Parts: sequence; C-alpha cells; structure tokens
Amino acid sequence: MSDAWERLLPKLEEMRDIGHAIRLLMWDQAVMMPPKGNAGRASSLATLETLYHGRLVDPAVGDLLAELDDDPSLDTTRAASVRVLRREYDRSTRVPEDLVRALATARAEAYQVWTEARPKSDFAMLEPYLAKLFELKKQEADAIGYPVERYDALLDAFEPGATTADLERLFGDLVDGLKPVADAVLDAAGDPPGFLFDEFDEDRQRAFCEQLVTQLGFDMDAGRLDTSPHPFTIMIGLNDVRQTTRTNRRQLLSSIYAALHETGHALYELGLPEELAGLPAGAVPSLGMHESQSRLWENQVGRSRPFTDYLLPELKRVFPEELGMLSPDEFHRGVNHPSHSLIRVEADEVTYNLHVVLRFRLELALFRDELSVADLPAAWNDGMEANLGLRPSNDAEGVLQDMHWAIGSMGYFPTYTIGTLNAAAIFAAARAGIDGLDDDLRAGDCTRLLAWLRDNVHAHAYLAPASELFERITGGPLTVTPFLDYLRDKYAAIYDLP
Ligand code: ZN
Repeated sequence: MSDAWERLLPKLEEMRDIGHAIRLLMWDQAVMMPPKGNAGRASSLATLETLYHGRLVDPAVGDLLAELDDDPSLDTTRAASVRVLRREYDRSTRVPEDLVRALATARAEAYQVWTEARPKSDFAMLEPYLAKLFELKKQEADAIGYPVERYDALLDAFEPGATTADLERLFGDLVDGLKPVADAVLDAAGDPPGFLFDEFDEDRQRAFCEQLVTQLGFDMDAGRLDTSPHPFTIMIGLNDVRQTTRTNRRQLLSSIYAALHETGHALYELGLPEELAGLPAGAVPSLGMHESQSRLWENQVGRSRPFTDYLLPELKRVFPEELGMLSPDEFHRGVNHPSHSLIRVEADEVTYNLHVVLRFRLELALFRDELSVADLPAAWNDGMEANLGLRPSNDAEGVLQDMHWAIGSMGYFPTYTIGTLNAAAIFAAARAGIDGLDDDLRAGDCTRLLAWLRDNVHAHAYLAPASELFERITGGPLTVTPFLDYLRDKYAAIYDLP
C-alpha cells in the first residue's frame, strides 16, 4: 500500500482553499462590490484562477494519480475522488497553454462586445468575435478528445458521461411529446390573472422570501439570501452557501420563484456529506443533477396545488390589501400561467424546454460544421418559428438574448432540460416513497421531502456518475415520460383538458 493518497491530500486542500477564495470574490463582485471595483477584482480573480489551474495541472499531481488510478487499497470514497480528479486533470492538461490563454482572451472580448451588441440588437457587431470563439472551442474539443463527435467533449464538461447521441434521442422524444401539450395549454390559457401585474413593495417581498427559504429548510446560519440582478447560488466553503433572488415591484412571483429555485440549489450544496467536503467526490456529479434540485423545489413543489394553497395565505399576511380578494384557484392559475415568450428566461414550464432544444440543435450544427456563425440569426429565427410558432423581430429578442455563447459556455444549455427531466422523475420517486406528501406540502411542511432528498440524492455527492445515481433513485434510465405525465396531469386539472 502506497502513501500516495496522503501525499495528494495537502494538494487537494490547497486547491479547495484557493477555490473558496475565488468563489467569495465572485459572490462579492455580484452582490456587494461597488461598480468601480471591477478592474481590480478582475485582476485578483485572474491571479487566483491561474494559481488554481497551476496546482491542478502540476505534473506531481499527474504522478500521484498514476500511482492511485488502480490502487486496490483505496476505500470506495477515495477511489471515487481519484476518478473525479483524473477526469479533471486529463481535461485540463490536454488543452495546450496557448489555447487556454487564447480562449480566455476571446471570451473576455466576446462578452464585452455582447454587452454592447445586445441593447443595440446588432448581431453583426458580435459575429466576428463569436466566430473566433467557436473556432477556438472546436480546437479545445479536439484537444480534449471525444468518443464519437466533437460536441461530446463540450457536453462532458458540464454533464460528465452524457453523449450527443443520447440527447438527440431524448430531446427528439421531448419535442414530439411536448408540442401537442403546449398547443392545448396555450389555446386554453386565456388572459393572465391581473395580480401578476400589480405592485408589491420590494422590501416586503424580500422579507417574505427570507421567511420562505427558512421554511423550506435553508439554514441562515450556514448561508445568506441577498439580491442580485441575476439570481444565483454559490457554495463558498463548508457550511457557507450563498443564494440570491431579485425583486421587481411589478413581478411578485419573480422574487418568490427565483428564491424557490435557488433554495433547491442551496439545499443540495448544504446536504453534501461533510466528511467529503473539499474532496473531488464531495461535489455534485453534474449540472443536470444540480438543476434537478432547483427545478424540483421551484416547480414540482412550488407550483403544485398543495403548496400554492399553503403559500397564498402566507402571502396575504404580508400583502393583505393587494391579495386579500385573490382565490386559491386564481393564484394557482397565476403561478402556472403559460407566458408564450420569445425569451427563454421568461418562458413557462410548458415551452421552456423548446427554447433549450433549439439552442442545442444550433450548437450541434455549428460544431458539426453544418452551420456558420454568420447564418446563426436566421437559423435561430426559423427554429423559433418551427418550435414555438413565434418569430423574433430583432436579434435582441432572438440570438443575442443569452450570454452563454459569448462567455464560451458551449454545451451548457442541454443541462437545463436534463435538469427539468431529472426533477420530474426524482419527484415522482419521492412521492412514491413518502406517504401523504401532498398533505405535508399543503401545511408548508417540507421536512420529510428534504430528508428524502438528503438520503437519496444529496448524501451520494459525486461518489458515482450522475446517470448511475439517477438510476438508483428512480429505478431506470432517464426518459421524457415522467415530465410529460407531470405536465399533462397538472394542466388537465387547471384547464379541464382531456
Ligand atoms: Zn438553476
């Protein structure tokens, strides 16, 4: 038995601590930092990130991994950490240093130009920067390597083990199943309830969100809830998980459902086993699994009839004049009202994933060299028309709306839909495993659901790949059936559909 693990451990602890510092600076930048601090902060972050990268690709780490790869004396949790680190090490060391630098520069440039091009709705401004970035991402994918096709290498960064072929099949099934549901629901929906556009004091919205996330089980002694323009959750370190929501005077539901979503992410991070904290296997196994937890709390819980029946009286206590006359039926319809939108982040549960599938198919065509960046706006608009029956009238409400491509996050979009599909299947398993779950939710009592998620999802961290964990939880591989069943049942009840 070698002592390679003991020699690796201090290196892992050092990377963990640099990671803490990076994330704290990022959180501060998004939540607290005065705007003029940006340049100084960017420099500090770049230095720390270089430090982290240097530690990760250190040849000494490679030597230790070579000793540990097939070491039969490692227990299962250490062996899992070695597997996860091996993945990260290989992905990082295969990309040449000059390509890493070129990518960082191209990302920074493209993002900067995107922030200017979007308000002007001018894709032509961004096009040369985006074309360069896509070329570099192709080189990156080729350097990393892939089993079947280039896009696999990009997908694998966010959703380890997922393949393009699997997603093409899954997303094809999804579009086929979703379109009739979307058509029926959008036909039946009618005008949105008026309270969706009323004014609600923002301080009281914030106070309500704080009460709500505590009620769900978020520990304010192990985290914070703040506000930021784009809600997010970040794990700083052990027992320090920060989430944000946003408030808008005319969108009461936006703050509440952002808080429910982010609390799902935060509860997952806080539920990871303490004994694995900071180790490679102590993390979440994929973004799709992370997103399953946020969607589950936001949608399967937050938009369910039992939970909205709990939520409404609580809200009336805070907004008695604004909501006093609202009925439970109207409120439930309001939180589920389909908002057939050109903008992905404003889309509802029924149409949201059609937006994601479009982005996936465009990315795929670009990485297969079947589409050029110059033709992207037209392909986008055609796809919107085919998938959603809407055609953007300009680039701002079309191809320029998301920042993902401008920051080099190609391959990221599919994780949103994987998360949605995971959430429906995991919640169905939870419901089967918890007698009387609806009664709990109607009383606002989430303790048994959270305990179930801790045992079945959170406690397993990254000890196994996400697909293995998913099959253990739900009893089979991922399909679109649980999600489609969930949507059909919900909307059949709301709009009296067959
Ligand atoms: Zn999320």
